[in-house]
Amino acid sequence: MIALKNFVLGLVLTAGLSLSAQESSDKQATPLLKKISPHVYSYVGITGASPAGNSFGANAGLIVGNDAVLVVDTLVSAHEAKRFLKDIRAVTDKPVKYVANTHYHLDHAWGNCVFAQNGALIIGHEKLRGNKKLEESASYAIAHPEIFGMTPKDTEGTKFIFPNICFSQRMSIDLGGVTVELSCLGPSHNDSSIIVYVPEDKTLFTGDAVFKGYHPFLAEGDLENWPKVIEALRKIPATAVIPGHGPLVKDSDFTDLIAYLKDFDVLAKELSKGKKAEDAPAIAEEMIKRLPAQNRTELPGLVEMNLRSKYLPPPQVKAQ
Ligand SMILES: [Zn+2]
Repeated sequence: MIALKNFVLGLVLTAGLSLSAQESSDKQATPLLKKISPHVYSYVGITGASPAGNSFGANAGLIVGNDAVLVVDTLVSAHEAKRFLKDIRAVTDKPVKYVANTHYHLDHAWGNCVFAQNGALIIGHEKLRGNKKLEESASYAIAHPEIFGMTPKDTEGTKFIFPNICFSQRMSIDLGGVTVELSCLGPSHNDSSIIVYVPEDKTLFTGDAVFKGYHPFLAEGDLENWPKVIEALRKIPATAVIPGHGPLVKDSDFTDLIAYLKDFDVLAKELSKGKKAEDAPAIAEEMIKRLPAQNRTELPGLVEMNLRSKYLPPPQVKAQ
């Protein structure tokens, strides 16, 4: 059974993220697949993040070799993955043989089923292999899309498919004329996040280790090690860096994110001292005022969710 804490987090998502979706629906547009480098295309810099409309603004992309295509992340549902596949078919007719999940979160991996049905192998971190707890919570969440601000129609046909090829540190794939290097740099956004690098193109997909223009999701984050991972990312000689959410990243964005994570932790500890779960909205409002101004306008509901999941005690549930 899903833990009460996760269920409560879901309620917060409904309250926080679906509200932000409503607020931004007027500026929401269907994302366009952009050519990033000779072998790489990606959705990037999506604004007006919404759950079903654009997979919470998650970026997803593909690397095209002479023999095969590798897809990086698959969006939030079968419906969204079909849109992605249609866009892929507009740029290449090469077979999609592989999917790499930068991590298991819904907005990056719930579309796996569409690619698996089309014969792709799904690659991810070793910690996801046979993870029953994650499988249970993913199945529960897909059956209750309302907790993520979606409807049953939005997730129709969606089935969570875990990676069937796993690695713990690094893996390299030859797509024909272009190589893909997958690696895990240690815990950051969560403990099973990986990055995808294309050395021939000097193009890097960071997954949710980097958010730009978005408030990061911190519930499973390792705030101590995350800055070290960001420092390791900035040492990679990439000329195009695609974050998990937001536009292409430049070096100063790494500095900004490190500062945000540190300031968030200090402020959240200070403002949450002696407070209850019910105080979360007021603390979140204060946090947004005091966090470094970095144009993080997308998914402000995550600030409250991060407070509830990491800094405040769980709400008191009264027996009925
Ligand atoms: Zn994530």
